[in-house]
Amino acid sequence: MTTVHTSDDLTARAREADDASPLRGRRDLFTLPDGVVYLDGNSLGALPSAVPGVVDDVMHRQWGERLIRSWNEADWWGAQTRVGDLVGRLVGAAPGQVVVTDSTSVNLFKAVIGAGRLRPGRRVVLTDPDSFPTDLYMTESAAALAGLEVRRVHPRDVVAAIAEIGDDLVLASYSSVDYRTGELWDLRAVTEAAHAVGGLACWDLCHSAGVVEVDLDAGGADLAVGCGYKYLNGGPGAPAFLYVATRHQDDFDQPLTGWQGHAHPFAMRPDYEPAPGITRARVGTPPLLSVLALEAALTAYDGLSPADVRAASLSVTQTFIDALDALGVDLPLATPREPERRGSQVSLRHPQAFAVVQALIARGVIGDFREPDIIRLGFAPLYVTHVDAVRAAEHLKAVLDGREFERPEFAERGAVT
Ligand SMILES: *Cc1c(COP(=O)(O)O)cnc(C)c1O
Repeated sequence: MTTVHTSDDLTARAREADDASPLRGRRDLFTLPDGVVYLDGNSLGALPSAVPGVVDDVMHRQWGERLIRSWNEADWWGAQTRVGDLVGRLVGAAPGQVVVTDSTSVNLFKAVIGAGRLRPGRRVVLTDPDSFPTDLYMTESAAALAGLEVRRVHPRDVVAAIAEIGDDLVLASYSSVDYRTGELWDLRAVTEAAHAVGGLACWDLCHSAGVVEVDLDAGGADLAVGCGYKYLNGGPGAPAFLYVATRHQDDFDQPLTGWQGHAHPFAMRPDYEPAPGITRARVGTPPLLSVLALEAALTAYDGLSPADVRAASLSVTQTFIDALDALGVDLPLATPREPERRGSQVSLRHPQAFAVVQALIARGVIGDFREPDIIRLGFAPLYVTHVDAVRAAEHLKAVLDGREFERPEFAERGAVT
């Protein structure tokens, strides 16, 4: 019974790794149902236990009792930049460059048009053909309005493409981690290449913020966008973030000129004048319940360095990959095995990937499916332990060995997959 022994050994080793981890005990800062291994934090992060109390206070005291006075008393007015700085700490941005606002889709639109206006006379925007679709849709739409041309170039070819485009390059707009395969790209190299021809770089951090060590300032990023509800755990519909490097802020002319980005919003002037600094990246009144929920959620990162989080993430995904190998699960990996090329997820291919994911969910291992054949498992190291990683591998083996994915109930698709 080698499998049983192997499984026991794997679990024992995983326990040791959990005990030795700098993230030990972080899972207790989250509210998760018993018996669930949650591997979908790259789609909707788990609930940090600090959030409900804060939201309750915001609703009952700040809103219910203090009413409009809370804009000043509780500094609702400054919340978007205050929480922006907290996000900035996790993505290598010094204070004053990140604002929590709108959705990733909307922020990307602002960034692409803003980039075009920072580089007048140039025409070409480069982006990844395998981007999360909204990035493609919004980039195309923004480019069309700005009279720019989008070229879709795979990240592995982008540095060469930039050199060829030369001084016609406006912007290279790329995700640091591929949302499907989990491959991590070297956006510093892309940025250097873009700068060498006088262009700009925008980094999409939806699948990296909070798990991968991202160094926006040191990497020379010009612009960046990312999600608040994935690894940052801000909750369903949490606002996204937008980074504009300090050196561009005075000239960052974004198209959505709402009153909360105005230099004198309460002067109620008829003409727009952008606020100094990152504040001009704001648009209208933000969803404060969500902004303040995100602020509370980020306390789960208190005292952790991005390097610790990255090391724990790699250790947990490696444990999962090793467990698959040890248990003889031989599905092709869509995710690179080399740690330096991996984000915080492991994706596997299977012709019936959707049904395999449903069968895993029925066993309490929650991941998701991405077209066409991807079983996508995200490992949020704050609440996914090494032992969880081994459990997930064991359940996957059971689903495959028992052909559980062939059950008819696992073929039914809901509105959201
Ligand atoms: C999750 C994700 C989005 C989501 O955009 P929304 O505007 O929040 O719906 C966008 N881009 C990427 C790369 C993503 O992973």
